[in-house]
Amino acid sequence: TVALRDVTKIFSDGTVAVDALSLDVADGEFMVLLGPSGCGKSTVLRIVAGLEDPSVGAVLLDGELANDMPPRDRGIAMVFQDFALYPHMTVGDNIAFPLRLAGVEQDRRGERVSDVAGALGIGEVLARRPGQLSGGQRQRVAMGRAIVRRPGLFLMDEPLSNLDSGLRAELRAEISGLVRELGVSTIYVTHDQAEALTMADRVAIMRKGVLQDVGTPTQVYGRPATLYVAAFLGSPR
Ligand code: ATP
Ligand code: MG
Repeated sequence: TVALRDVTKIFSDGTVAVDALSLDVADGEFMVLLGPSGCGKSTVLRIVAGLEDPSVGAVLLDGELANDMPPRDRGIAMVFQDFALYPHMTVGDNIAFPLRLAGVEQDRRGERVSDVAGALGIGEVLARRPGQLSGGQRQRVAMGRAIVRRPGLFLMDEPLSNLDSGLRAELRAEISGLVRELGVSTIYVTHDQAEALTMADRVAIMRKGVLQDVGTPTQVYGRPATLYVAAFLGSPR
C-alpha cells in the first residue's frame, strides 16, 4: 500500500507544486492520477519514488514511514514518457539489465526475460536493438524492463503520450491487463480523461497541486465532487 498524508511540495523558487495532498493506494490497485499540465502529477510520483522530498507531510509504504528511505530500497519500478532504452544493447539485455545489476545469475535472467517478453508479446524481437523496433514495441520493452524484478509498486508517468492514438488504445488495455495480472499496485499519471476512465480502478483528479476528487470512474464521472471535475471529465449535467 501507498499512503500520502498531507503532502506539500514547495520548490525553492516558491512554486507550490503539491498542496496538502492525502491519497491511499490499496494493494493491487490501479490508481490513475489525472489532471492538466502543471498540476503536480509528476511531482507526486517523484515524491513517492523518493526522487523528491516532500516539504511537509508523510509518505508511507506498506504502513512504514518512507520519507528517509533511499529510492533503491522502495521496491518501486518507474516508466516515463521517453522510456530511455539502452540503444547499444539488445532488447533481451535491456530487459535483463535490472536483474544483472541485482546479481541474478544468467540462467535465471534468461528465464525471467522470456516470461516477461512473452507476456508483453515481444518474445520474437529479443535479439534486436531498440532502433530496430516500432514505438509500441519500444514501449513494451520499457514496461518489461520495469517489471522484470517484480516491483511492489509500479509508477508510470504518461507512458503512452508519444504514441499515435490507435496504438495508445491498444497499449492501454494491454498495460492495465498486465498490471492486474501481476497484482502490482500502480500509480499511472495521465492528462487524458479517456485513458483515466478506461484504465483505472480509481481516479484521483488534481488541479493546481490540490486533490479535487478520488473515486471509481463511475463515481467521479457520474457524481463529480466539484464543478471543475465535472467540466474536466465532460460529465453530463
Ligand atoms: P505535465 O502534465 O505537464 O507533465 P505535471 O502535472 O506533471 O505536468 P509537475 O511536473 O509535477 O506537473 O509540475 C508541477 C508544478 O511544479 C509546475 O508549475 C512546474 O512548473 C513546477 N515545478 C516542477 N519542477 C520544478 C522545479 N524543480 N522547480 C520549480 N518548479 C518546479
Ligand atoms: Mg508531468
